[in-house]
Amino acid sequence: MADVLSIINPATEALIQEIPVDDRATVAEKYARARAAQLGWAALPLADRIKCILRFRELLIERVDALAALLTAETGKPITQARNEILAVPGRIDFFVEHAAQVLAPERVYAEPAVALPGMGVLEEAIAQEPLGVIANISAWNYPYFVGGNVFIPALLMGNAVLYKPSEFATLTGGAIVSLLHESGIPQNIFIPIIGSGLSGAALLEQPIDGVFFTGSYATGQKIAIAAAPKLIRTQLELGGKDPAYVCADAKVAAAAAGLADGAFYNNGQSCCAVERIYVHIDVYDEFLEVFMATVKSFKLGDPTDPDTYLGPVSRKPQLSILADQVADALAKGATLRCGGERLNRPGWYFTPTVLTEVNHTMTVMQEETFGPVIGIQRVASDEEAVALMQDTPYGLTAAVYGTDRERAVGILHQLKTGSAYWNCCDRVSPRLPWSGRGHSGLGATLSLAGISTFLQPRAWHLRAG
Ligand code: NAD
Repeated sequence: MADVLSIINPATEALIQEIPVDDRATVAEKYARARAAQLGWAALPLADRIKCILRFRELLIERVDALAALLTAETGKPITQARNEILAVPGRIDFFVEHAAQVLAPERVYAEPAVALPGMGVLEEAIAQEPLGVIANISAWNYPYFVGGNVFIPALLMGNAVLYKPSEFATLTGGAIVSLLHESGIPQNIFIPIIGSGLSGAALLEQPIDGVFFTGSYATGQKIAIAAAPKLIRTQLELGGKDPAYVCADAKVAAAAAGLADGAFYNNGQSCCAVERIYVHIDVYDEFLEVFMATVKSFKLGDPTDPDTYLGPVSRKPQLSILADQVADALAKGATLRCGGERLNRPGWYFTPTVLTEVNHTMTVMQEETFGPVIGIQRVASDEEAVALMQDTPYGLTAAVYGTDRERAVGILHQLKTGSAYWNCCDRVSPRLPWSGRGHSGLGATLSLAGISTFLQPRAWHLRAG
């Protein structure tokens, strides 16, 4: 009998459903189907593939209520944030569709001005863009529509077949995405789900795939890179972060505090680009803390199906002990607990929004990815001190600087190795800009033109008329 995956509602701890998982044999069979179908899909006119994706776009909007309810049920994401996520996908689709033809277009780069070889015609050089083939899309649970869609939408548009492994913590949403894409006209053998946990993901990597596009933790990303290395295939890794923000002495403090509280706690802090540590110049520290605390206290914690809820449960039970351990470690080393720091005494994996001050870099809360509703705020005496602390991480996803002087902020951001740099904003992703990480935050980029062409490989044509 096949193993099953138990889907649990993080808000109630009730079992929602049990689903059979893929094993090596079913993964191999799915791979073979995708391989057999891919060339036919790539041979279709781009307009036909675009038509399917635009139908998917319509269905997302039409069915947003049911899709958001499902996402909330299995991840605990507050329903308003679930709707926001789904309704932001059409904007990304628009970008991909608008630029697909441009990225795919063949290019004639040279034509010999006169015949160089007697008896032969002139030489022409051209570049054609070809899909990679059959790719693996191994996804995370925290934003299944975003992180999945950043991969499978451009990958399909460019003519690839996709073996899509949703996270085991967002499997029902993954299933809904698969159904919607099939209903939109994407052939069953071109977009195929692989259901299960890391074991199913590892079985997928045993197949002779042509690329792997992974979103998840640094620890798993390393395993993916090791499994993919002997295959010499395109390997893209979007991993975690320990994203810093610095509030300069010249910042508009109230706006910075409100923006950073949202950046730290949106989606319960379970965003790859969540603000994970905050440094505040001593001159504005008290004012900052006052507004920050008032903002955090205004966040409604509770039932994620309530449209007014801002903070639901965390999506994975083991995260509760990681959060509790980071808080305990910080308190043991001298931090001050301003609010939160404990589980709610009710069913569900609720952790109260937690603000720690008097923190320093000996504490895990300032060093390791928290991925939950806990933030450390550290006072600094100068820009130089802030830069040194912001640099003190192996991660490099995003960094934010708040201040009125653009040159100063940009100067600080230039000293940090991150894929995204924010001035007076944070926790922000744009389809027009590449989404990438440095160091332990990953390899390669999604979104932007780079995030479309990554699903292609160039072919050089040397054509001499006979
Ligand atoms: P995870 O690493 O636990 O799992 C990610 C996926 O990998 C899941 O589908 C899982 O089943 C699969 N997997 C696990 N072991 C595997 C193996 N050995 N071989 C193949 N597949 C395997 O991560 P998660 O808990 O789902 O996501 C949270 C992490 O993702 C955080 O670190 C977060 O920062 C990161 N993240 C990064 C981005 C980004 O864009 N940089 C976006 C979202 C999340």
